[in-house]
Amino acid sequence: MKLQSINPSTAEVVAEYEGTSSEEAGRIIERCHDAFLEWKQLGFADRAKPLREVARILRRSAGDFAFLMAREMGKLVSQGRQEVEKCAWACEYFAENAQGMLADEEERTDATKSYVTFQPLGVILAVMPWNFPFWQVFRFAAPALMAGNGVVVKHASNVPGCAQAIETLCQEAGFPKDLVRTVFVPSEEVDRLMEHALVRAVTLTGSSAAGRSVARKAGSLLKKAVLELGGSDPYIILEDAHLPSAVTTCVDARLINSGQSCIAAKRFVVVEPVREDFERLFVERMRAKKVGDPLREETEVGPLARHDLRESLHRQVTKSVEVGARLLLGGSVPEGNGAYYPPTVLTDVRKGMPAYEEELFGPVAAIIPARDERDAVRIANDSVYGLGAAVLTRDSVRGERIAARELESGACFVNAQVKSDPRLPFGGMKESGYGRELSRYGIKEFVNVKTVVVR
Ligand code: NAP
Repeated sequence: MKLQSINPSTAEVVAEYEGTSSEEAGRIIERCHDAFLEWKQLGFADRAKPLREVARILRRSAGDFAFLMAREMGKLVSQGRQEVEKCAWACEYFAENAQGMLADEEERTDATKSYVTFQPLGVILAVMPWNFPFWQVFRFAAPALMAGNGVVVKHASNVPGCAQAIETLCQEAGFPKDLVRTVFVPSEEVDRLMEHALVRAVTLTGSSAAGRSVARKAGSLLKKAVLELGGSDPYIILEDAHLPSAVTTCVDARLINSGQSCIAAKRFVVVEPVREDFERLFVERMRAKKVGDPLREETEVGPLARHDLRESLHRQVTKSVEVGARLLLGGSVPEGNGAYYPPTVLTDVRKGMPAYEEELFGPVAAIIPARDERDAVRIANDSVYGLGAAVLTRDSVRGERIAARELESGACFVNAQVKSDPRLPFGGMKESGYGRELSRYGIKEFVNVKTVVVR
């Protein structure tokens, strides 16, 4: 089996990679386990050294890695460089803070000494998506490695070049040879990898369908799983919002990574008094966005990562229109070889429509009318997903109340676009998954919380 890198801007095959056989994948896991046995003996300062070096190499080669992402999955080079910088930040953050986060915790009991210590688990299998090919890997790997684990990455099949580059740069940074490895296998092989006795836990970032499959398998094997899955983030626009800045936030949040982000804004729940003005301004801004070659600095929206993804997105749009959604902008597949899809705005989106019920993974916005605040909160929560959410209002006390108490999501931002940050936990509820990445919560997902009692 070979994996192909296909440039989504041109549909050309740009590289091919030899697949990893089942036998070789097994050997990679075993060698990773051997490397882990030595790695876990090191202190935090020694573990931090190669991670800091990763950050340095990432920064040094940011342009090359951004080019690689643009060519393999269509990310704008400007956003690719930002992604690489964010990876460097996360590596440095965990290199700096892991020791404090994982410090032993003493408890007074009737024993001479009793405490909790956080010990690594072993080889963690990471099944990763293509949309942030560097960030997804490092946001998991940086804390997992600092906690003393080994890492085997099964990256998405359309980004083998990024997977290879990550493995190579970890080698260059000085990690033990087999501690951070990649396997080129299709998703059908994931179950078999999980069955390996030396794989101690699994993390998957991807669609809810893939998460369900990995959760089922992990359950049957009694292995720990962390699942970072899809989202359909609602942005509530209240009548007291400052509309021009709310619209800027909403457009940016919809179009980040050409609309292919789990925490992109997907449903815009707008209360009636401001609905017409919001629609007009929103369409104006979406229409002005420059669609084109991701290698050009001035491009604002690139192609989708694969042609089949564009087809599914277009099907969701046409089906929603067939059952009553109103198309205000875009909605047609352009001529040419690239997997481009225009910024698209649907309004009058209602329950039962794909644009209401499903995740729209591309530059398509669904505007859903709401009567008032209460109705808007009800609609925002009326989703199988619960990843991110935002509230736009001039009244920050009102916004904070809705954010903190009423919305069902793993993160909720007031007057700002939902973003991940190494210092804050990231993850979802409902079908957006379980477990957390980043922060002191993320680093504790792949440790044995061990009680030690000395009499
Ligand atoms: P995907 O099709 O689910 O693929 C993600 C990864 O899972 C790939 O490595 C894929 O391998 C593998 N995979 C697919 N089906 C599988 C199965 N049945 N069993 C085991 N592994 C399987 O998702 P995607 O299209 O790459 O990414 C987009 C989705 O990821 C969106 O839903 C997005 O919201 C979500 N996402 C979530 C987060 C988050 O943090 N919550 C972050 C980014 C993306 P192959 O490529 O070989 O099929």
